[in-house]
Amino acid sequence: WEELTLLTARWPAEMCDGVRVVVQANLESNEELAAIPRSGADGVGLYRTEFAYLKGRLPDEEELLAEYSVVAQKISPERVVFRTLDVGADKMLHAQAALKEPNPALGLRGIRFCLRHQGLFRTQLRALMRAGVHGNVAIMLPMVSGLDEVQQVRRIIQEMHQELTAQNLPHAPVLPLGVMIETPAAALICDALARECDFFSIGTNDLIHYIMGIDRNNRHVAYLNEPLHPAVVRSLKHIVDAAHREGIGVSVCGELASDPLGMALLLGMGVDTISAAPRFVPGLKHLIRQLSAETCMELAHSVLLSTDVAASRRMVREQLHQSL
Ligand code: PEP
Ligand code: MG
Repeated sequence: WEELTLLTARWPAEMCDGVRVVVQANLESNEELAAIPRSGADGVGLYRTEFAYLKGRLPDEEELLAEYSVVAQKISPERVVFRTLDVGADKMLHAQAALKEPNPALGLRGIRFCLRHQGLFRTQLRALMRAGVHGNVAIMLPMVSGLDEVQQVRRIIQEMHQELTAQNLPHAPVLPLGVMIETPAAALICDALARECDFFSIGTNDLIHYIMGIDRNNRHVAYLNEPLHPAVVRSLKHIVDAAHREGIGVSVCGELASDPLGMALLLGMGVDTISAAPRFVPGLKHLIRQLSAETCMELAHSVLLSTDVAASRRMVREQLHQSL
């Protein structure tokens, strides 16, 4: 089965009723680039940029530019979505560890850290804009919880454009800018956020934890990490609908997208793009080819009506088994 899946990896992920799904890959560093062609991924939906920063010293602009340019070139003409530095909580820089925040998961992480340490952030944005001339590059902001964060980033990008132009450095002046939806605040204001940005990617790992009020590393409350909880399911649907009303696309790059049941549910809610670790991509594409958009929509409909997690789980399993 595995061999068959790999052989068909490059075929498009088209459902039985002709609906095409974009399946992209999540990458942790450019060392994983070689896995992309074999996986059949339609580009990179999440490039985590933390790796270069977790080596005990901060990378400079030229180092970042070299890394990002190679990735953009290799993936071109497909898109690569670079997520700006998302440190904090489970991935700490020395500067952050020194803050000794009592609760880092609720602290200065993701975009909050970058807007506080703008020197570091500007270096990264300059490298991304310069790498933009080597391929199809988009920028994505993690841990957004307010409109002003996106507006500030747009202003900084505009300044970086003026700076790079004055220095005669080739760069892409306007790159698509998206946000990760992974805080309840972002989920609740996603209509307004959708008007400020070009795409959404739902980070279900964090979103579920913050909705459920649990720490992602605390095993005592791991039982509450429940994607089928009605609060989670309703939030997901709300985000997808708001994005589509405002005319932007939605991807899911959290682990829920690489779970077969989770993926079917997400497609049924109208998610446009799935992004998962390269090893999951061939299997997800294979599964998509056996599903129909109608089955997925019925599944999502039943789950959205349910307030009983165990019943939802049974329903998803049964409906999927029947359709496969
Ligand atoms: C997520 O939160 O779902 C996500 C993809 O981001 P990370 O796991 O890197 O926090
Ligand atoms: Mg996250």
